[in-house]
Amino acid sequence: MPPYPTTAPVPSQELLDRNAKYASESHKPKLGQAHWGNIPHHAVVTCMDSRINPHEQLGLGINDTAVIRNAGGGVAEILPTILAAQKFGVRHFMLLKHTDCGGFHLTGTEIVEHFKAHAKDSGVLDRYSTESESESNSEPGGDLYLKELKGVKDKVKEFGFGTATIEEIVLRDVEFLKEKSGLMFEETEVSGWVLDDETGKIRQIV
Ligand SMILES: [Zn+2]
Repeated sequence: MPPYPTTAPVPSQELLDRNAKYASESHKPKLGQAHWGNIPHHAVVTCMDSRINPHEQLGLGINDTAVIRNAGGGVAEILPTILAAQKFGVRHFMLLKHTDCGGFHLTGTEIVEHFKAHAKDSGVLDRYSTESESESNSEPGGDLYLKELKGVKDKVKEFGFGTATIEEIVLRDVEFLKEKSGLMFEETEVSGWVLDDETGKIRQIV
């Protein structure tokens, strides 16, 4: 048995009961001016890994900090969200990577192969690859989300940290977002951190 708390199945009455308990005992509405007048100025960009819990691990209060997550906590695929966050007032992005991340255990090629072995339509990634633009235009469904689908294969193939250390990955992402992307406002800060899965402690890299 894993040393984790049990989780209510989705969907289930237990899940609804747990939510009802939260809603009646803990929830504080943040609607209207009380929320929109107090947008967090900080955002944590981190991995989707369920072992990462920024609010608990960083002692964040409700509404303190925006949290942006994806596989590996990479910044390249969340640039529109980064821009939206700046519009809402975020002026510090805290990039938080973690040890034992899936980025060390998995490659983009493995993700593509796994997808092809399980997908209802194993050719969809290839058809929407940037290399086969003319074919994809004739897909049923017209151009709805076509722009989003194009290039997914190429993007997912870049997944994985290779032989890089976690420190190098953090530095690479901070440098990209802060210097190379050209998307940060003059006053926006970007810092890079690592959470150690063994100790639960974070340390700043840059
Ligand atoms: Zn991870």
